[in-house]
Amino acid sequence: MRYTHAEIREMLSAQGGALEELFQRAARVKAEGVGNSVYLRGLIEYSNICRKNCLYCGIRSGNVSCVRYTLSDDAVLGAVRQAYEQGYGSVVLQGGENISETHISAVERLVREIARLSNGTLGVTLSFGEQSLDTYRRWRDAGAHRYLLRIESSDRELYGRIHPQDSLHSYDARVQALHDLRASGYQVGTGVMIGLPFQTLDHLAADLLFMQEMDIDMCGMGPYVVSKNTPLEVYAGELMSEQKRFLLTLRMIAVLRLMMPDINIAATTALQAIDPEGRLKAIRCGANVVMPNLTPEEVRGNYTLYNNKPLSLDSQILEAGVGYRERGDSLHYRRRVGQYVKKTDMTVKKITLIAGNPEIKV
Ligand code: SAH
Ligand code: SF4
Repeated sequence: MRYTHAEIREMLSAQGGALEELFQRAARVKAEGVGNSVYLRGLIEYSNICRKNCLYCGIRSGNVSCVRYTLSDDAVLGAVRQAYEQGYGSVVLQGGENISETHISAVERLVREIARLSNGTLGVTLSFGEQSLDTYRRWRDAGAHRYLLRIESSDRELYGRIHPQDSLHSYDARVQALHDLRASGYQVGTGVMIGLPFQTLDHLAADLLFMQEMDIDMCGMGPYVVSKNTPLEVYAGELMSEQKRFLLTLRMIAVLRLMMPDINIAATTALQAIDPEGRLKAIRCGANVVMPNLTPEEVRGNYTLYNNKPLSLDSQILEAGVGYRERGDSLHYRRRVGQYVKKTDMTVKKITLIAGNPEIKV
């Protein structure tokens, strides 16, 4: 569905009955566009070594109080096995932006191993920041299917205010990376932070139009959460309240669902950092993906992008039904590359939870 900037802006300020109606419409459009299954992606935070210094992020290179780690292959593959055995359809490997050959070849090796140990059935999503076209292709050839790279803000000026002013943090390079990822054959995901200092509803309306214009396959967007020891921390007192950031994120998810009915939209962890029912609420107004954290306990505390990060999926999943053992590829992607999408690819499922699964309890 196409909306004007003004229409989007109005939906982003909906209150009361209009808000209820927006959420209900988004839920209906989701059911028609992608079905009611929720897809699980096991999130593995591979390394917090990062060459960038984004002003909002707790693992920025300038944060000397951050203890740096990289998981061993065994630790990653152990978490992958756990995901596979528990019926997850995909895993996400995420980490800081590191362009060393050691890192690039380690990720390549891990992706191949994941494909081998799951007989090619597990979906593999990567999120390692901006890389060269050659690197995207190497990882794609190894078996990765999807890539998440948030634009963070589609507004050039706001992007400039939340990043250092140097060539390493270039808005144009970020946009180019999204084009390169698409050209390399990935399902491409992007997203923004919501409730950033200096951010207005006009910025957010423009963000949604940017995503539609870029014809993305997946989206992960979440509230900005203040991170200690970061330059943007000084604006903590000037932000809208956490509750407002939270509600605005739900509105963003709902409006994006109306605009792009067949993409995958994640209910992000940062939502849960604010409201214990955060992910569930997002699922009810348009999201269809959750990413439980499978990072080994020993290092979790060091991957603190922001504070109060919830450590794993807890009690609340999910009245709608979980798509166990399903990769849950973006239907939008499948259509745009000419794959046939059957009606049963989006049937509404009610699936009993797998007994003994420590991550997922109702
Ligand atoms: N280094 C990669 C991937 C890891 S960071 C990259 O930057 O693309 C993953 C995401 O964490 C970022 O895209 C950013 O949107 C989010 N993030 C970082 N700091 C945050 C904060 N303080 N609040 C909310 N989200 C944050
Ligand atoms: Fe590094 Fe990503 Fe954090 Fe920026 S947001 S400092 S690229 S980990």
